[in-house]
Formats: sequence, structure tokens, C-alpha cells
Amino acid sequence: MTDLKLGIIGQPLTHSLSPHLHAQLMQQLDIQGVYRKYELKPAELAEALNAFAEDGVRGLNVTIPHKVAVMSQMDWLSPEAELAGAVNTVVFDAVDADGTPFPRCHKKGYNTDITGFVRSLPQSVVDRLPEINMLVLGAGGSARAIMTALIQLNVGALTFAVRSPEKAVRLTSDAEMIKQTYGRRTEINIVSLLSLPSLEGFGGLINTTPVGMWPDENFSPIDSVQLETLPTGSFVYDLIYRPVETQLLKDAKAHGFHVMNGLDMLIYQGICAFELWQEKTVPQSLLPALRDKLLQAMEQVAI
Ligand code: NAP
Repeated sequence: MTDLKLGIIGQPLTHSLSPHLHAQLMQQLDIQGVYRKYELKPAELAEALNAFAEDGVRGLNVTIPHKVAVMSQMDWLSPEAELAGAVNTVVFDAVDADGTPFPRCHKKGYNTDITGFVRSLPQSVVDRLPEINMLVLGAGGSARAIMTALIQLNVGALTFAVRSPEKAVRLTSDAEMIKQTYGRRTEINIVSLLSLPSLEGFGGLINTTPVGMWPDENFSPIDSVQLETLPTGSFVYDLIYRPVETQLLKDAKAHGFHVMNGLDMLIYQGICAFELWQEKTVPQSLLPALRDKLLQAMEQVAI
């Protein structure tokens, strides 16, 4: 049997821990294979995807900024990817479900960020969601996954704070479809990140922008003074996992809020992607070792 060929497409990819995560998974599960980083510009997507299919690549992770653009290149979308309007995992299938070869390799798009995010959320937060207006910073690919997950979990309201509200208009109509699918009444609002009022009406904040990501660790998407206006007991989640504690999380911790970084979401979405590529369940017992290995990898400066 040929070695498993996997990879990640995005730009930039310097921060990505996915190669470490999947190298660990292959090692722990005794699978021979490679996982490569492919830095691609948006204009290079279509040609590169066809080349990967020809080269026998089994699967790809998709990250910033391609999660939305890659959708139009797929032959099939999972219902969740379609609902979210974003793909973070591609499976290349040479044969159909009956084992009949496709005339050309099929590109299937999934969104494992949704399940990854849901599995990462503490139960205490999930229990409070129906009473919360959650502030989400950003409206890109991961914000769409977070929107799908939170509507599914029956959040009371979602407010997206974005730098160009006109670009986020489609988010509102897409949210309607998600609400219909799950029978929810979540209120959706879009506001400008640049003219955000006091945060006292929100019960939590989730950062889905890359602001504060390594190597620009001193930046935060929100001013510390404004952050302090969140109500006591609020939850602040930064999807960034490198650095482990972003400036946003440092400020939130200093104000006494509950904080969480993106490491668990990264691990869970990665495991779900690996299960799709391998068509096998990954044992939960691997989780602590995976987390330790990723933390160790981040301690090395140049990964
Ligand atoms: P994306 O699709 O490119 O979306 C990024 C969003 O952030 C867009 O709304 C963008 O606004 C906004 N943004 C970018 N720079 C900004 C700035 N300087 N100020 C304000 N807003 C800004 O990227 P993504 O795939 O959603 O990823 C976003 C972040 O989440 C990355 O740091 C990524 O590593 C992280 N992430 C983590 C996980 C995990 O498993 N932990 C999973 C997914 C993503 P415009 O539309 O105006 O450009």
C-alpha cells in the first residue's frame, strides 16, 4: 500500500501546528505517510487542487484565507460545510461508495471546525448559551463554522463585529438557513468593529480574526479598556492557539473573565479530519499526548 499523502493549504502557514498534529497522529497510529505545507495564493487554488488529485494526495486541511473560496472547487459538499459556507477539510476520492472508480478524482469538502469547536466548549458555557448574546469578532471562514455551531447549540443571539460590515451581509441570509435547519430563533446582528459600543450587553466574546497571532503577539483585536465592559463571569475564547495566551486572553484574564485558547479546537477538528481521510475512529486516549506534543512544538521558536 502507498504511503498516505496529506497536507494543508493556506497563506501564511508559518504559524500552523497542523503538520505536528498529523505527524503525531500517524506516528501514534503506526501509519506511514507525509503531511506537507502548501502556501498558495487564492489565484493558484484551482490548479493546485487538480495537481494534488493527480498526485494521489488523500486529503488536505484548508486554512486562512481559503476556507470560503475553496468551496467552488469541490465536487461534493457535506451538509454542514454547505450550511456554514466554508470548507476546512478536503477528501480526494478515487472511487465511489461502491468501489467504482470515478472518471477523475472526486474532491469532497467538509467542515470539521464546527464539530471541533463544539467539542472544545466547556459544558458550563454550553448550558448558558440560550441566555447569551455572543460577540464574535470577524466574519471569515472560521466565524461561519462558529455561527453554525452556536445556532445548533441554541445561542440566544449572535453579534458579528467586523471591519467591513458590507462584506458580512451574506452572513445574515446564510444564518437564516442554519436557523431553519435547526429550528432556532437566534437573533443575528452585524456591527462595525471600529465603532463598537460598550460590551455590557454581551455574555461572551469569541475572536475569529488573526489579530494577535504569532509573530504579531502584541496586538489585540479589542482594546483592554473596552474589554473590561463585558459583564462579570463572561467567557472569552480566542481561536488563535499560537501564542497559547494571546494579548486578548492576557487582558481578559486580568479582568477576571473565563478564558480559552484555540488548542483544543485545533486538536478536535484535526482528529475529525484524520478520521475522514482514514475512515477510522481515532481513540480518545491519544488526546493528552497530542496536547503535550503540540505545546512542546510551540516552545521551539521556528516550527
Ligand atoms: P479568514 O477566513 O481569512 O477570516 C478572517 C476574518 O478576520 C475576516 O473576517 C477578516 O476580515 C478578519 N480580519 C483579518 N484581519 C483583521 C484585522 N487586522 N482587523 C480586523 N479584522 C480582521 O480566516 P479564518 O480561517 O477564519 O481564520 C481566522 C483565525 O482563526 C486564524 O488566526 C486561524 O488560525 C484561527 N483558527 C483557529 C482554528 C482552531 O482550530 N483553533 C480553526 C480555524 C481558524 P476581512 O473579511 O475584512 O478581511
